[in-house]
Amino acid sequence: MMYWAKQKSKWVATSVCFFAGLLGAGISVAEQVNIYSARKEALIKPILTTFTEKTGIKTNLITGKADALLTRLRLEGKASPADVFITVDAGRLYRAKQAGVLQPINSDLLTAVIPVHLRDKDNHWFGLSQRARPIFYAKGRVKPEELSTYEALADKQWGGRICMRSSNNVYNQSLVASMMEATGVKNTQRWVAALVNNLAKPPAGGDVDQLKALAAGVCDVTIANTYYFGRLMNSRRSGERQLTQKIGLFWPNQNDRGVHVNVSGAGVTAHAKNKQRAVALIEFLASPEAQVWYSAVNNEYPVVNDVEVSSTLNAWGDFKQDSISLGLLGENNRAAVELMDRAGWK
Ligand code: FE
Repeated sequence: MMYWAKQKSKWVATSVCFFAGLLGAGISVAEQVNIYSARKEALIKPILTTFTEKTGIKTNLITGKADALLTRLRLEGKASPADVFITVDAGRLYRAKQAGVLQPINSDLLTAVIPVHLRDKDNHWFGLSQRARPIFYAKGRVKPEELSTYEALADKQWGGRICMRSSNNVYNQSLVASMMEATGVKNTQRWVAALVNNLAKPPAGGDVDQLKALAAGVCDVTIANTYYFGRLMNSRRSGERQLTQKIGLFWPNQNDRGVHVNVSGAGVTAHAKNKQRAVALIEFLASPEAQVWYSAVNNEYPVVNDVEVSSTLNAWGDFKQDSISLGLLGENNRAAVELMDRAGWK
């Protein structure tokens, strides 16, 4: 209880109604579930409020950087107040599993509605929203017919024309991990070396910076997560909206394995004190009602079938996605990082 008191200023209590109701009834402890989330507050808090309204379970939310939250969970160990860990990228979810901070979830509902490749094979984590990582190009300087696959970005025609973010970010690590699975280690090593050779400038900045570099004429092609493009398209800043007019989205590998996709997801912590309520929350996040909001608010794709996607996503059209089991991205992560290091991907 002391811990919670100390942390109180950091908590965002999404609803106090049920708690107040219990106090009125003479019960001192509300039903609650405690969440560590690498997903930003604006992308999770409203849906937690809905969860509380539906179930009466109060939620306590701490948000932070993905890697810092994992470290915190590890260091807190048994003393951790967290029941649910929400983070982004299957590579990170795998790291959390390996670090021993998650436990298996026994939920017929989750295994029924979430496709097998979007969840951990031992049910330590479940994907809750999908992000695709396609190719983006500078309209005018690149014709979409010139593009085909991730592999083809190694061709000489792209010399000095590609922007990529740094290899220390998990998104490109996961992409490389998926290619190791699809094309083998040797081919991937060759691909990474050629890609690095084709860079317009040393890797720097995040996905949005790569998109802005395309619009600014610094480079002609990049790889980025779809929601960053959607965020710029719907930006309150007219300059950001305008720059997206100069950028085209290309779905690569449509004649073979499909576009690389990844997930944001969640698991129940190893030392959860409120395990059942933690599972109830994750099940709720997989419900059609929550999926519509949870995915659309960040321009992501739902993980469950028959859920409407946002108009922004609709405009990008259908695409074939790589159905590699995302757990493999985690298993290949270390080798992917080493491979990128060897190729001099900064
Ligand atoms: Fe991101």
